[in-house]
Amino acid sequence: DLDHPHGANVPEELVPLINRLDEQRKRLDAQVAERRRFTGNVSHELKTPLTVVSGYAEIIERGIARPEDVKQFAGHIYEEAQHMKSMVDELLTLSRLDDAEAEDMRIDMDQSVSLVEVARNVSVRLASAARRRGITVGLNVFEGDGSGDVKVVGNARIIEEMLRNLMENAIRYNVDGGKVDVCVGRNAQGLAFVRVADTGMGIPEDMREKVFERFFCVDESRSKETGGSGLGLAIVKHAAQLHGASVSISENKPRGSVFEVLFQR
Ligand code: ADP
Repeated sequence: DLDHPHGANVPEELVPLINRLDEQRKRLDAQVAERRRFTGNVSHELKTPLTVVSGYAEIIERGIARPEDVKQFAGHIYEEAQHMKSMVDELLTLSRLDDAEAEDMRIDMDQSVSLVEVARNVSVRLASAARRRGITVGLNVFEGDGSGDVKVVGNARIIEEMLRNLMENAIRYNVDGGKVDVCVGRNAQGLAFVRVADTGMGIPEDMREKVFERFFCVDESRSKETGGSGLGLAIVKHAAQLHGASVSISENKPRGSVFEVLFQR
């Protein structure tokens, strides 16, 4: 590499090593930049609700709120506190997944996990949220084994977390009265998959990679009113990676998106 500052005096056999070190340094730089952006995002995302909470609390505490408003203010405080709590929970989940990837923590990845059972559990837990908006959630099994099940090896809790995030989004970004179709199965190569299809607003093609980044929202205002924090799909991606699975997004016909998690082993 003659562009290298030491290029001129470096013995030829050291060049590959130097190039490797160079690449390593670039990767580390990128990680540091990513970490810095992440910390900035976290602070920003927590600061907004905290400002609301302390504002209303101060008005009540100083006794300058009209009595008839106090209940409503307490409601705002509660809502923002809930939002912060779910964000901190998601951050903890992400850091747990980071640790697992770096193998800093032992996570039992050898469980036999029934995708049908996990999908059914998540459906039950999200049923009332779906019902409130008139959304129907269906579950189908495609090419299951003898007992009609599809099993993969991994961690049940993490797979459940992944599916819950996908199904929550399928409800959150759906239209009232829409549909969510979950399909668990094996493809022609025998690989297990989970597909979550919705009838919502869909995701523009040029955003289909970005949505997996931490704190990314397609539309800031849309996420705000639906209570999202931009961490759900980052969790999905890391959870999938940990299982050697890939996640892809495609268009649902006539409208909406399809998220597919494909287990590669
Ligand atoms: P959030 O907590 O904001 O939902 P996610 O990481 O789960 O964060 O999703 C990132 C963004 O991707 C969301 O803000 C939303 O704009 C978009 N998105 C995710 N799932 C869907 C979906 N099923 N349909 C349409 N848009 C979606």
